[in-house]
Amino acid sequence: MRYNLAALQNLVDQFERMQGIGHKTAQRMAFYVLGLSDEETRAFTDAITEAHTKIHQCKICCNLAEEELCPICKNPARDKSVVCVVEDPRDVAAIERTHEYNGLYHVLHGLISPMDGIGAEQLCIKELLARLNDTVKEVIMATNPDTEGEATAMYIARLLKPFDVRVTRLAYGI
Ligand code: ZN
Repeated sequence: MRYNLAALQNLVDQFERMQGIGHKTAQRMAFYVLGLSDEETRAFTDAITEAHTKIHQCKICCNLAEEELCPICKNPARDKSVVCVVEDPRDVAAIERTHEYNGLYHVLHGLISPMDGIGAEQLCIKELLARLNDTVKEVIMATNPDTEGEATAMYIARLLKPFDVRVTRLAYGI
């Protein structure tokens, strides 16, 4: 269904651009916004603007951060000899919840996916190679054990060969 109110249609279109959001859900979200008071609308748009301006990628691990470095990279108690490579920031949160890992992370922000036109150069892989130094002894590949996760892990493992690090494979089943 299309609306002849341009502003409403625009709102529906914006929500529908989100991955996994279908037309029906986009309509529901648009009507939710329409039902907000002026004050609630301001709080909503402020949240979007604030998240956009304040949150960026950590200079070291590419995880989300409000400062130059994320809290994990900044924490002196973390084991800097191990780097766990994950697909996205939600994986970091999931592993952190287990309280069983005390090393550092590296967030790729996606997986290599020729079907979706995502190549290695679009992921944070060069940032991973750039941080390998004498301190890093082990890189744990913790991408999901599906086709894209495996392909990405193998691709990165190959790039890591020239470096003096142990590469291990771990599926957290997130
Ligand atoms: Zn970081």
